[in-house]
Amino acid sequence: MADNRHAELVGILGKQRAAFTAARPEPLSARRDRIERAIALLKENGEELCRAMAADFGNRSPHQSMITDIAGTVGFGRYCLKNIYKWSRTERRKVQFPLGLLGARAELRYEPKGVIGILSPWNFPVNLSFGPLMQVFAAGNRAMLKPSEFTERTSDLLAELVAARFGADECVVVTGGPEVAHAFSELPFDHLVFTGSTQTGRKVMEAAAKNLVPVTLELGGKSPAILGRSADLEKAGERIALGKMMNAGQICLAPDYLYVPADMEEGAVAAVELGVRNMYPSLLANEDYASVISDRHFDRLKGLVEDARAKGAEVLEINPADEDFSQSNARKMPLTILRNVTDDMDAMKEEIFGPVLPVKTYKAVEEAIAHVNAHDRPLGLYYFGDDAAEREEVLTRTISGGVTVNDVLFHVSMEDLPFGGVGPSGMGSYHGVEGFREFSHARSIYTQPRVDIAKLGGMKPPYGPAAVKAARMMMK
Ligand code: NAD
Repeated sequence: MADNRHAELVGILGKQRAAFTAARPEPLSARRDRIERAIALLKENGEELCRAMAADFGNRSPHQSMITDIAGTVGFGRYCLKNIYKWSRTERRKVQFPLGLLGARAELRYEPKGVIGILSPWNFPVNLSFGPLMQVFAAGNRAMLKPSEFTERTSDLLAELVAARFGADECVVVTGGPEVAHAFSELPFDHLVFTGSTQTGRKVMEAAAKNLVPVTLELGGKSPAILGRSADLEKAGERIALGKMMNAGQICLAPDYLYVPADMEEGAVAAVELGVRNMYPSLLANEDYASVISDRHFDRLKGLVEDARAKGAEVLEINPADEDFSQSNARKMPLTILRNVTDDMDAMKEEIFGPVLPVKTYKAVEEAIAHVNAHDRPLGLYYFGDDAAEREEVLTRTISGGVTVNDVLFHVSMEDLPFGGVGPSGMGSYHGVEGFREFSHARSIYTQPRVDIAKLGGMKPPYGPAAVKAARMMMK
């Protein structure tokens, strides 16, 4: 990357940090004002942003974009506005007996960290940049955003809109490709939030480590959907179909593969198929159904299917209107169900991130639990069924970032629940009070009373019998 681009990024960070420092202590009204401006930006330009997203994808329903990227993010901004006073309240903490009686005081203040970098992916380009931004602002920080180069029009538009509403010392959108992204991840931010693949997450953490920049990593993985015997197949099938078809399955939390009791496999596959047919009567000529983002991703998905076929999987394409996909360059792919899958197939090794659904079967649910535990900890886990004992067995014997019971994805839309991964699916979280705390520095403040506590406690040299007595008392 040209040196002047690097210098530009360093310059922006320097300016933001100087402005941050000079403005302290900032009233909460300043934070609220930034969130309100971010909300207004989305509301006033929502339609234009949806058009940009549709153009970037080639095809993406403006209705879907309005829900997932605009309304969902506005709603989260409002949630932050509503909670900002509660979250930022100073907490009184306990002091050990008898310090309280002597006038000692302990408190915890949630203070802003400074300038926070936000690196976001292409799949929900507005939600995954402005979502973290709302909470970064709520915690009193300034922000630099670097959205994905795959959604170039949306990223350029965001840059323009942000420049019109925010001072460069408050919030800036930086655009560019992987080189700019890498340079961005090397900046000495006060915190860095990265949403993207586990592979890039590793590089980001390595770059951040050079400056000991704390990171929040929102990554991906293979989120299983486990159907119990008591599952309502029709409901489960439709919900799984939606999770795999919305945004053409390009969702970090999409159900990656399905685990079903062997004797329910036929019924489960039929239910998913019915779900697809009900919601998407056609695909190619249907604006509701999104394209795969790029030729590279499209070829990767087709490769997953061909690899599975070559290794013995049964391949079932759900093409409700019998459309001819071979004559289209719209990068649309019908939901492709893979049966008889084995763990040596690429579709069972890498995150799918598209409309391909491998189906595995079990005789006892323990097999599904063992499979999940033998692989990387997933971002999401889905259990379908009304059997509370079985549900608890699945939940208490597995580990995942989050869980939705009797549906997929939905836990991320609960604003008050922290959202994040665990292990290879990520670290740290945002949403809920946890997100506010993630972007805050919890500063401990202890106030010493007038009496000489160190002397009273026998902690002052020259040490003698008082120190011996104090140590004994402490261990009593
Ligand atoms: P990606 O990792 O390829 O790219 C994400 C961002 O990283 C982009 O802005 C890109 O410019 C930047 N980048 C690329 N190379 C970089 C480098 N060397 N250093 C620093 N930054 C770099 O991911 P993607 O393809 O855009 O998104 C898909 C992945 O994101 C999937 O794995 C998905 O599961 C994951 N994801 C996770 C969440 C979540 O919230 N946990 C949400 C959406 C997507």
